[in-house]
Amino acid sequence: MISKRVRDFPFSGIREFFELVQKAEDVISLGVGEPDFPTPEHIKDAGIRAIENNHTSYTSNYGLPELRESIAAKLREQNNVEVDPETEVLITSGVSEALDLALRAIINPGDEVIIHEPSYVSYRASIWFSGGSPVEVSTREDNGFRVQPEDLRDAISDKTKALLIASPNNPTGSVLRRRDLEEISDIAVENDLLVLSDEIYEYMIYDKEKHYSIGSLNGMGDRTITLNGYSKAFSCTGWRMGYAAGRKDYIESMMKIHQYTMLCAPSIAQYALLTAFEHMDSVERMVRSYDTRRRLLVDGLNSLPDVSCIKPKGAFYAFPNITKTGFSSREFAEKLLADAGVAVVPGDTFGASGEGYVRCCYAASREDLSEALERMDSFLTKQK
Ligand code: PLP
Repeated sequence: MISKRVRDFPFSGIREFFELVQKAEDVISLGVGEPDFPTPEHIKDAGIRAIENNHTSYTSNYGLPELRESIAAKLREQNNVEVDPETEVLITSGVSEALDLALRAIINPGDEVIIHEPSYVSYRASIWFSGGSPVEVSTREDNGFRVQPEDLRDAISDKTKALLIASPNNPTGSVLRRRDLEEISDIAVENDLLVLSDEIYEYMIYDKEKHYSIGSLNGMGDRTITLNGYSKAFSCTGWRMGYAAGRKDYIESMMKIHQYTMLCAPSIAQYALLTAFEHMDSVERMVRSYDTRRRLLVDGLNSLPDVSCIKPKGAFYAFPNITKTGFSSREFAEKLLADAGVAVVPGDTFGASGEGYVRCCYAASREDLSEALERMDSFLTKQK
């Protein structure tokens, strides 16, 4: 009874791996991509007030008008992206829903969407489930895993509908430079393609790198759907809040699906996140703390036998190269878990070019990071 498209697609490698993790004891997990801070107080307070004030009904399908206004103002001031809050912003249940809606709104059966890999596991799946074909472009460590615009160009066929890019990227932490984005924009304009831009890690950026929204570049406002949300920077993964912004007809078509499937994003979370951009100091504090832990983990990884790790410029993941250990990504992760009680995610889970790497999330306490590094050190020394 199960559809062929669903049957043919594999379960997420992360899920498979975490079933193993759950069975193991005394594990330090660098596996899950979740902030380790509680949601900031002002957001929690606004959520509590929303319940007390009985803001517990459906909202507009597009989302609360005042929340859409706060997002449009944020996009104008911080990202240089102009959208009309009334018709060009849709509040969704996380970036996950925004991504799914964007793909379902634009894809006809067989259309191709180009993604760079290693990348977030949901991209291929969401393209596939919406009837499209994911076309993957590899990225490499020697240029910081930044997708090379000419590789995107080479992947274009007469079936290509859109490019899906993420910066900062999960799992590599790569950050696209303005020049990269300009070249990608030229490719999109020349080939009449849409760009879906996942900017969920925009605030988690280090070493004086800067985030640019591709939707702000020349000619891109009309052909970009910006996807963003509150999960990571505002430590709100469970509130399920995200949004999409772009040209009216794209957002309206996404809203059509959303109105029949989700009706609206959770009302309490919408009221709570109305306060999000008012207190950016809490985000800045969290990002500073991730930065300290990033240095600790990356320096530690580079001092391990047979491991090397480039400094990720964004998000909260390190993506060390483990090829010299002689293990595949999967063997490395399984043995490290079984022998040393440290959970990391095999890099090939995120795409073929992730083979030879593992993803370590540094949203863990400094004590846990130090202990994980010590355990990895004894594990690797024993293999010699
Ligand atoms: N996009 C990227 C790149 C992610 O890493 C994740 C979660 O890990 C998501 C989107 C999903 O985010 P949300 O919680 O907003 O659905």
